[in-house]
Amino acid sequence: MASAYDKLRRMLLLEKEQGYRNRAVIGGFGRFVAYWEKEARGEIPSERWHEIVEVVGVLGAYAELPAEHRPAAVDHLLELLSADVPEVPATPPPPPAPAKEPPPAAEPVAKPPEEPSPEPAPRPTEHRAPRVSAKAQEEGRGLDSPVTVLRGVSEVSQRRLARLGIETVEDLLYHLPRRYDDYARLARISELALGDEVTIVGVIQRVSERRSQAGKSVLRVTVSDGTAPIEATWFNQPFLAQRFQVGREIVLSGRVDEYLGRLVFTSPEWEPLQRQLLHTGRLVPVYPLTAQIGGRWLRRLTSSALDAWAHRVKDPLSAAMRQAYDLMDLGAALQQLHFPDDWNALERARRRLCFDEFLVLQLSVLRYRARWRAQRGRVLSIPEDEIAQYIAGLPFELTGAQQRAIREILADLGSPVAMSRLLQGDVGSGKTVVAIVAALAVVRNGLQAAIMAPTAILAEQHCRTIRGMLPEDLGIRVVLLIGDLPASEKRAAQEEIASGRAQIAVGTHALIQDAVDYARLGLVVIDEQHRFGVAQRGALRAKAGDLQPHMLAMSATPIPRTLMLTLYGDLDVSMLDELPPGRQRIVTAVRTQRSRERVYSFVRAQLEEGRQAFIICPLVEESENIEATAAIAEHERLQREVFPDYRIGLLHGRMSAEEKDRVMSAFSRGEYRILVSTAVVEVGIDVPNATVILIEGAERFGLAQLHQFRGRVGRGEFKSYCVLLSDDTDEQRIERLRIMEETDDGFVLAEKDLELRGPGDFFGLRQHGLPPLRVAKLSDRSVLELARRAATELYEDDPELAKTEHQLLRERVARFWRPAELS
Ligand code: ADP
Ligand code: MG
Repeated sequence: MASAYDKLRRMLLLEKEQGYRNRAVIGGFGRFVAYWEKEARGEIPSERWHEIVEVVGVLGAYAELPAEHRPAAVDHLLELLSADVPEVPATPPPPPAPAKEPPPAAEPVAKPPEEPSPEPAPRPTEHRAPRVSAKAQEEGRGLDSPVTVLRGVSEVSQRRLARLGIETVEDLLYHLPRRYDDYARLARISELALGDEVTIVGVIQRVSERRSQAGKSVLRVTVSDGTAPIEATWFNQPFLAQRFQVGREIVLSGRVDEYLGRLVFTSPEWEPLQRQLLHTGRLVPVYPLTAQIGGRWLRRLTSSALDAWAHRVKDPLSAAMRQAYDLMDLGAALQQLHFPDDWNALERARRRLCFDEFLVLQLSVLRYRARWRAQRGRVLSIPEDEIAQYIAGLPFELTGAQQRAIREILADLGSPVAMSRLLQGDVGSGKTVVAIVAALAVVRNGLQAAIMAPTAILAEQHCRTIRGMLPEDLGIRVVLLIGDLPASEKRAAQEEIASGRAQIAVGTHALIQDAVDYARLGLVVIDEQHRFGVAQRGALRAKAGDLQPHMLAMSATPIPRTLMLTLYGDLDVSMLDELPPGRQRIVTAVRTQRSRERVYSFVRAQLEEGRQAFIICPLVEESENIEATAAIAEHERLQREVFPDYRIGLLHGRMSAEEKDRVMSAFSRGEYRILVSTAVVEVGIDVPNATVILIEGAERFGLAQLHQFRGRVGRGEFKSYCVLLSDDTDEQRIERLRIMEETDDGFVLAEKDLELRGPGDFFGLRQHGLPPLRVAKLSDRSVLELARRAATELYEDDPELAKTEHQLLRERVARFWRPAELS
């Protein structure tokens, strides 16, 4: 036992006995601790110096600590000091006898998990001790065993773990830390310098809140670690005041700033010190938790599960493969992900798990693709002459890209493999006419085409466009089927589809609802494909009966290549990478609130020239209702105060499809000169006379989405403008918007979006019917590419993953993406 620890412990006990008057040592603990620190550092191995830092922090501030907080501080230190200290040189302690783990019920109930909790004293040396019941090991049970095979997991804890999605041992091993605290790099406040990015641990000494002249709350908290105090300031978060109690220890991370010549933190990251995690070493895992599960309990459970199970984890990758792709073995990777030796090991572990996820994902996609391709489609005979004639009759010349896409599609339709193709093309690249040509070929084979759009407005617009683009004399019957039709009309449309009289059905997801039977469905076109998940694609295909219909998915959202390979690896791709000639660039400008009046005058000038304008209201992600309410208010304000002499229409998500349609048609006829709208106007709407689109709260939208909005103007002969109005003052976010000024290439914007905001914002994975990735991010491009290469090689070698060495992978693929949802 180290004597410094021992000595301090005795003094603390004395302090307790004497009623916490800071008299246990002469001169008080504050003075004593400087000597003590030196002594302790001489005795304690450096990987545990964070304990010393903590003691110094608490005792350094002890004199200033209000009396009522002293008992807790002393107890905390006693707890900390009760840890065994190995002799120097260190020898590992013998594994202690299995101790009964306190069930989580013993922990404070219904307390936010990040609160420092009055848990029983930590038993630091136990955390690596195997504590899995012999029963489970003997039976050689798999990782899919329920967590109750682990010692200390009662049925109560089982239920609590289930709330974190942890049901099996494997779930537990894959319940990964959300971050790691590097306590080895804790800084001392006295040594901070301006501009340092640091983490400090200290005791809260003072908390004050005041109002600035502008009426904003300014919260100042003084924290000391015994070496020096430092002040941290938070603006406009008055509710934080209750979280900061004098005497509590907190961890602050951030950049050291300067204010009035003093070093300060401004809005640093913070959290209460979870001291129970400290004893695990230098990188401390911090888990996502839920009420009634304590961080320490979970960490210990994980640790003992790892010790007992990690080496038995069967690695789905062969040694040869691991070597080829320079990957850690799975057991070690799991071990490192929870309790990393250092940042480097953590990175390698993460890479390994990331690879696994991508590999399984890609293998699933390849399999799905193969499955799809194995299903026979109808071989169509292509009415070449009629198609050539149709194209010749168009009011414009097809672009090279359109011609190429049409050739690719017709080749698919004429082959026995059902088409499964993605037609990608920026807004205005002319996808509709390509789809119509495909539909024409299908109809001439006596089959039906279903064209599906994400919203009723778009479906109706499509229906009009398609009718307009199919001359009477072709004799092709186009029906509309959307959810909001009056029952009788809907039934009529369904009957026409069922009898085969309707040759082209245009609509929303109502097209794939159960009530709809197709007489002879031959082609499914899905517009704005990113809104339809894999499952919906599957459902539409399933409508066809014995022979698979051909499928054409269209998307104007440019999808970066890596994402495409991941999400749409099951599709062939045609690109419309060329806009029809004569399109003008839309002049784009980012403006702040200060320019609002000038922006309005600009819009007014356009209106005076006879043009029309869109005004898009800010996105409110949490609630369509709030968004709609805000749009209604904005509409009223604009009508009354800003543009009283022009009629303004309003479009929002709470309106019925009919109402929306009424407003939209009135706007296209010019009855409304301005259309105020929420994001529902996003795609495909075509009003050639509209020349300016003003987007409010532009910083809330993704670049790809802004680009979609921008595509609403410039659809006629007039020069058009897009104004991005932002009420943000954050330079970085404004900078992001400036990219819109520089480029009108949707792909560049999509790549930027992915880079800046990550795929989560790009569009939700769940929308695609993909299971969530636990470790991997779609922006981990290099690993994604690597895994893709591996998947392709594996697939070529053993498409069914039938070889024994691929059995584990096969199981994972089967579990990852259940084909039942797909076909
Ligand atoms: P998107 O790819 O955005 O769906 P659309 O199919 O709606 O584009 O086409 C946009 C506009 O361009 C439509 O008015 C369409 O008639 C027109 N268009 C399509 N192809 C051409 C072309 N090759 N030349 C000129 N205009 C075209
Ligand atoms: Mg379109």
